[in-house]
Amino acid sequence: MLTLCFSLFSLLDHKLVLINLISNCLTANAEIIILHEMGHVLGLVNVFPSACSVDCSTSNVYTCPKAAAEYSALGLSSSDLLVDSASCWHWDEGAFPQSTGSSELMTPFFESYLAQPITRVSIAALEEATTDYVVDYSTANSFPYTGSTAADKAFKALVPDSTFRIDLGMIDDFEPIAA
Ligand SMILES: [Zn+2]
Repeated sequence: MLTLCFSLFSLLDHKLVLINLISNCLTANAEIIILHEMGHVLGLVNVFPSACSVDCSTSNVYTCPKAAAEYSALGLSSSDLLVDSASCWHWDEGAFPQSTGSSELMTPFFESYLAQPITRVSIAALEEATTDYVVDYSTANSFPYTGSTAADKAFKALVPDSTFRIDLGMIDDFEPIAA
C-alpha cells in the first residue's frame, strides 16, 4: 500500500515540467529524491522523446554509443548497459552493483548509506538524449564513488539514510516511494 509519499515528474507537451513531492516526502532524503526527479526531467534515462529510447518490451539493452562506452569503461561485471525493464526509465539496478560500494542516482533503488553518484554514464546519456545538450564530463562523480576527485569535492554524491525503491508501483508518470 502506498501510504507515505510519492514524487511526480511530467513532460507535458514537452513544455511544462512539474515536480511534486507531497509534504511527508520532505524528509532527510528529500534532496536526493528531488535530484533524481530532476534527472528525469532532463531526460534520464531512456525517457521519451529521447533519441536513445529503447522499447523495454523487446529489449532493455541501452544501445546508444556514448553511455554504452562510458559504462564499458567502468569494467563492471555486465558488458551491456541495461535499462530497468520494469520502469524502462532508470538504469538497471544490477548494472551498478552494490558490491562496488556505490549505486547510481538514476537506478530505481536507493540503498541506505550507499552513495548515489551521478556517473559519466548518465552524463553521456544526457548528451545523446537530445541534439542540443552541451554536457561537461568533468562534473561527473567517480564510480565507484571515492569522494576524493575534484568533481566529488565540488558536488558530493548524496547518500540516503534508508533503503527504498523509488519506482514501486509506478503508474504512468508517478513514482510512489515506499520508505
Ligand atoms: Zn525515477
